[in-house]
Amino acid sequence: MYKIRRSRLDRFFNEYKVEAILFSNLLNIRYLSGFSGSEGALLVTPENCWLLCDSRYTIQARLETVDTDVIQFSEKKNSLASLIEDQKLKNLGFEAAHTTVAAYREFAACIKGCELVAIGDSLDQIRSVKDPDEISKLSAVASLASAALQSILGVIKPGVSEAFVARELEFEMLRNGAQGRAFDFIVASGIRGALPHGRASEKLISNNELVTIDFGAVLNGYFSDETVTVAIGKPDEQLFTIYSVVKDAHDLAIEAVRPGITCAELDKVAREHIRSSGFGEYFGHGLGHGVGLEIHEKPVVSPRSNLILEEGMVFTIEPGVYIPELGGVRIEDTVVVTKEGCRILTQIPKGLIYL
Ligand code: ZN
Ligand code: ZN
Repeated sequence: MYKIRRSRLDRFFNEYKVEAILFSNLLNIRYLSGFSGSEGALLVTPENCWLLCDSRYTIQARLETVDTDVIQFSEKKNSLASLIEDQKLKNLGFEAAHTTVAAYREFAACIKGCELVAIGDSLDQIRSVKDPDEISKLSAVASLASAALQSILGVIKPGVSEAFVARELEFEMLRNGAQGRAFDFIVASGIRGALPHGRASEKLISNNELVTIDFGAVLNGYFSDETVTVAIGKPDEQLFTIYSVVKDAHDLAIEAVRPGITCAELDKVAREHIRSSGFGEYFGHGLGHGVGLEIHEKPVVSPRSNLILEEGMVFTIEPGVYIPELGGVRIEDTVVVTKEGCRILTQIPKGLIYL
């Protein structure tokens, strides 16, 4: 599995004309080798792969990796420098998006005779197309989080705080085996619904409000992301209009997903619907984002992204309308692109839930 993933690096070896690529980003290291420790470096050539780690991780690294030479270091950059010298590397690609100027200078000074070649953030795109193992992990974490939300719906009622709902949801996820929450949950009730990123506060939920809940879990290192908006009592009529506009935008976008269209084209499907319904100015963010070993990763699904969708990409579809002083609605699912369309990984049906 990891060998197949590393074979995706061939295009970078060719494009940048480098003999090896050095990885310092821990998520890329995990993706390419299986190593899940908190410190290390991975050097990959078209034929070989070396993982450098300190003594805390040597045993773990040997257990987690296959077809990878594990080298224990006491000083990372010196150990890397001698490996580069042993392999007689004349040049080396590195992750420019994950390397500070200070680290670059320090490293460049100790590897005389080997040219460092910056590879841009296109390198992170290797993780955007998920393989079957990743899709089953993403599917499992999405199901776990959806089930947790469904089983705590009963606690959402007038008089309880947003923060209480967030805590109950997190406890439920942990009880069901999640490693943790994917991010600080958004629980935004009433006029706080107009804050697209309104973290759960001490505000008490009242009757006749909409409550937007954006949540996710982590399992096996993979993240989930889903948003539901629920109604308590009888909210303002205008909020129901907004709900159906956002729901239709969400459904149209899901129907439009297929390999071959660009992220911008997909974004436009939802954006045009919201605009033609008269709420265009209230949908300020992009339609979605990739989800995997991080909560936000490639692809970015926005009006500015010309990336072409491919089978196996996993990302969110999350249109929203936020009106100051009134409230807001967001509906979010995570989908995987299939041969002809997409499959929804998150599990809660997106009709308005009345509590
Ligand atoms: Zn979300
Ligand atoms: Zn999201």
